[in-house]
Amino acid sequence: MAEKIQVAVIGAGPAGLFAAEKLASLGYGVALFNRDVKPGGMAEYGIYPDKHAVKDGLRKQFNHILSCDQVHYYGNICVGEGRSLSIPDLLDWGFPAVLVACGAQGTKWLGLPGEKLSGVYHAKDVVYHYNRLPPFSTMPITIGKRVVIVGAGNVMADVARYLIHQEQVEEVHICVRRGPAEVKFTRKELETIIGAFDLGNLEREIGRVAPAMQALDQDPTQELAFFHSALTNAETYSGKAKILMHFLVSPLEITGDSNGRMNGLLLEDNTLVGDKENTSARGLGTKWNLEADTVIFAIGDKVEAELGLPLSRNDYRHAEQPAFPVDGQSYEVEDPTGEKPWTGVFLAGWSRVASSGLVGNAKRDGVNAACAIDQYLRSAGKDGLELEVVDERVDAFECPVVRKDDLKRLLEDEHRRAESGTPETAKYLTNEDMLMVMGLK
Ligand SMILES: Cc1cc2nc3c(=O)[nH]c(=O)nc-3n(C[C@H](O)[C@H](O)[C@H](O)COP(=O)(O)OP(=O)(O)OC[C@H]3O[C@@H](n4cnc5c(N)ncnc54)[C@H](O)[C@@H]3O)c2cc1C
Repeated sequence: MAEKIQVAVIGAGPAGLFAAEKLASLGYGVALFNRDVKPGGMAEYGIYPDKHAVKDGLRKQFNHILSCDQVHYYGNICVGEGRSLSIPDLLDWGFPAVLVACGAQGTKWLGLPGEKLSGVYHAKDVVYHYNRLPPFSTMPITIGKRVVIVGAGNVMADVARYLIHQEQVEEVHICVRRGPAEVKFTRKELETIIGAFDLGNLEREIGRVAPAMQALDQDPTQELAFFHSALTNAETYSGKAKILMHFLVSPLEITGDSNGRMNGLLLEDNTLVGDKENTSARGLGTKWNLEADTVIFAIGDKVEAELGLPLSRNDYRHAEQPAFPVDGQSYEVEDPTGEKPWTGVFLAGWSRVASSGLVGNAKRDGVNAACAIDQYLRSAGKDGLELEVVDERVDAFECPVVRKDDLKRLLEDEHRRAESGTPETAKYLTNEDMLMVMGLK
């Protein structure tokens, strides 16, 4: 009997892959359409390159999922409106269910004057660049001596870690809208950069914002102790760069010279308002300039509009009345034509809630989405699309499509290259190179 595929999953990051594993275990056939040549998403191209054990562990799990007979991989296909394949196309082909698990690929900006100056980057550009994701891998990223990072999460910590190991970088200034009690990075991430902190500056800075914290019953000593606690297991750092914190500041403008190159940030001082549990920042009107040659915005991501799903701020709009909730959550997309679920279209991972959590969360979300799809498929009683038909349609695309056997050849080749380096340095920098190695070009 011909093999049938019931679910098209868009995106082979952690959410899509773990969803595929769960769906296969429930007896469904899955077609995974992935923009990148390689699977793994941010686990491959986001997690810091030095975290070899974590990345290798995840790669092994992903390879195991892809080795499952019911899971079919189609890499190097970008789904979206005006692209070679869209969500309505997948439904028209006859897939009973489509799972959107393509992460949060849109770039979030604050809309400040000067964002187009050279020297201004989003964290995504830098993270993808050092993790060697084409085409970011070959994009020129010009980092100067004095760099500002805007943001206070784990991504900021990863970017700061990358910067302090760049030879020319002398100072990394971290600008945080709220205070020390509201930072979002974990102690584990702090341990990777605390060795480069100017601790005198940190103490003075926490002292400077202490009155605003105390007005909300926050304890500056406790927050300083959090930073000091990271010193115990601090990563050794012998470079020259210094990290300096600036709490309670918001960027208003990026200033530049006549050559279109940025030369500083205009900042406004803030105070804290609200209460201990629910604080926000309010501008005080006092402004000052911070000279810098590079700024990197580590302020989170948003989903990509090009997929053609209805949007709600940074996320796709979830159906408020899901037909198949799991743990009280909606995994369904709102129908673009009315206020009801879009039948058969589901969300998981960072495509469901942008920039939310680690791989473990994405895994849980993918599994839950698979359970929602299972409920739907049982109730809809739909049969699925023959694998042969999927393959024929994919073969008709102009771009080379990467299948599991091709991936195997690439991974074997990278494995050999890693013997004289690391799995990270073994990565090819362009899709063309990877396609050549696989014999697809
Ligand atoms: C800088 C950074 C560091 C991180 N470090 C850690 C860490 O150390 N530990 C940890 O546990 N978590 C870490 N995370 C979080 C982790 O990466 C995410 O939780 C997880 O990757 C989210 O998985 P996802 O599948 O939802 O999305 P993603 O990982 O983004 O995967 C999306 C997939 O969809 C594909 N895709 C995108 N658009 C399309 C399209 N239009 N058509 C087809 N396919 C598409 C992409 O090719 C990709 O394969 C980090 C995140 C970042 C940003």
